[in-house]
Amino acid sequence: MKTKEIREVFLNFFEEKSHKIVSSAPMVVKNDPTLMFTNAGMNQFKDFFLGYNKAKDTRVANTQKCLRVSGKHNDLEEVGVDTYHHTMFEMLGNWSFGDYFKKEAIGWAWEILTEVYKIDKRKLYVTVFEGDKEDGLGVDQASFDIWKQYIDEDRIILASKKDNFWEMGESGPCGPASEIHVDIRSEAEREKVDGKSLVNADHPQVIEIWNLVFMQYNRMADGSLDKLPNNHVDTGMGLERLAMVMQGVTSNYDTDQFQYLINFIAKKANKKYGASEKLDIAMRVVADHIRAIAFSITDGQLPSNTGAGYVIRRILRRAVRYGYSTLGLEGPFLYELSEKLGEIMGDAFPELLNQKETISKVIYEEEVSFFRTLAQGIKKLDGIIESAKAKNELILDGEVIFELYDTFGFPIDLTGLIARENDLQIDENGFNIALEKQKTRSRAATQVSTQDWVQLKEDDKEEFVGYDFLESDIYITKYREV
Ligand code: ATP
Ligand code: MG
Ligand code: MG
Ligand code: MG
Repeated sequence: MKTKEIREVFLNFFEEKSHKIVSSAPMVVKNDPTLMFTNAGMNQFKDFFLGYNKAKDTRVANTQKCLRVSGKHNDLEEVGVDTYHHTMFEMLGNWSFGDYFKKEAIGWAWEILTEVYKIDKRKLYVTVFEGDKEDGLGVDQASFDIWKQYIDEDRIILASKKDNFWEMGESGPCGPASEIHVDIRSEAEREKVDGKSLVNADHPQVIEIWNLVFMQYNRMADGSLDKLPNNHVDTGMGLERLAMVMQGVTSNYDTDQFQYLINFIAKKANKKYGASEKLDIAMRVVADHIRAIAFSITDGQLPSNTGAGYVIRRILRRAVRYGYSTLGLEGPFLYELSEKLGEIMGDAFPELLNQKETISKVIYEEEVSFFRTLAQGIKKLDGIIESAKAKNELILDGEVIFELYDTFGFPIDLTGLIARENDLQIDENGFNIALEKQKTRSRAATQVSTQDWVQLKEDDKEEFVGYDFLESDIYITKYREV
């Protein structure tokens, strides 16, 4: 089944169960000081759970564009290195606002996975909050006892509050969660090592696909739990992971939609996907990042110097950097890739087609300007190398290369590469010390994370506030921007 069909089947399934199919909320969140990007399907419904607003439709389903590059959910470092975390991904979800509860949510999840998608039951595991058993949380409504009707007890894993109890914040709606995990290893491997022992162990082929959250309590200010007047259901399943399972591959990047992008990148770079881990990671990063970039633009966030715009600019530059230093792409390429993205995702997200020219133009201009920066950095580095040689130094000073990185946004790996070409080394230790110093200075302005919402701390002296370090080698410099 192609990704497109998998998405449609999900939405049709829940529509038949009387759910209203709603659009994805924009991926970029405006006017919410606690959240920069949508990171879960439930974000747009939080007022229903908090009781601030009453839902017109009490059963809803959709596919939500999510971005996890900041706050509690920051998967950026995993992206491309592992095979199942993206920056931007689609979260399929169904919700009950005071309507159905565990029995239906669990029953339907099982039905669609095993009867509609026909995933082999012997590959599935379920995790349940340890307190959500027998009459612990209500006789008819304990997840463990409902799951027992569908799956062998020894495939149900009881987990602690840390993993399987969802809370919105210090106080407010909360409740037990139940997750579905899939073991996609070969039969032989499954026989060798029991999949159960690999659940929640970061195994790339024993992965979480669906999270069902059952909100039934209200956490009071004093920490005690009250029953909510109405029970709610909030679920989220990653479409790309589901596609991996359905298409019998072992990486999200081997599914139809990612392969389409990767083929284009490989061709453009004249490299083969699968030839080396280093090249593969670079191609995966580029294929991943174009989605984050394109959807940010369609949803109203252009790359810029501050806030969410700066996060996007950094993601774009990260993609360019991988393209340039690892894949050998020496000029703009992302703008063309954005058009390929429109070809495969435009049916589900027409904004990619309606705004095709804008997306491509914005990306092109950003790319041109960053490639110019890279060229300036190279010129500056040439000067540094010359003066080191004149002084017979064999190692480039850490502070100096940090400045190059900090002022020009010039990637350290590239500095190392060019230095080596000149038979020089770089003082990585000195660089790291300078980096740490800078990080400590920046840290004061980064966010305090509170559960699924992120509290931003304003620092009035500096123009940019908002998120934690994207990654060690391109962490955010707050005031100096190229
Ligand atoms: P994981 O433990 O794998 O990081 P999670 O527990 O953080 O996932 P949830 O917040 O429960 O994920 O989100 C619901 C579902 O969304 C997950 O079960 C998974 O299928 C999918 N998902 C979460 N993060 C990502 C991501 N970065 N890329 C792709 N899919 C994701
Ligand atoms: Mg996660
Ligand atoms: Mg998880
Ligand atoms: Mg989860």
